[in-house]
Amino acid sequence: MPESPYEERTDGSLAEKMQRSLTVAVVEEAGRDSLVLTWDCPVCEHACRRSGKLNGRFVGLVRSKKPSRKRPLTIAEVIRCDCGQPHAGRPEDEQGCGFWAHITVVMSIQ
Ligand SMILES: [Zn+2]
Ligand SMILES: [Zn+2]
Repeated sequence: MPESPYEERTDGSLAEKMQRSLTVAVVEEAGRDSLVLTWDCPVCEHACRRSGKLNGRFVGLVRSKKPSRKRPLTIAEVIRCDCGQPHAGRPEDEQGCGFWAHITVVMSIQ
């Protein structure tokens, strides 16, 4: 795996690569539905996972819009690398390697 020092950045072709590796799942965590996004960071190649922050919004949207294969729910979102691995020069309150990108989350359930 490449050693990437922390750097705030985004990039169109890397964002596409991130988008391709993205998976979306609704899983039951602690007795309630959670939306979990997982992807591979295109810069540091570490696995990333995000749930929590998105949950209220996503779970609410899923409940109200009931996405299906015919009518998937599409949401634009900004996600940042949060790999939890050490990257040189990272500020104390940050996670990951600093890569971020606009992605599209498409959900179709049932
Ligand atoms: Zn990393
Ligand atoms: Zn990264």
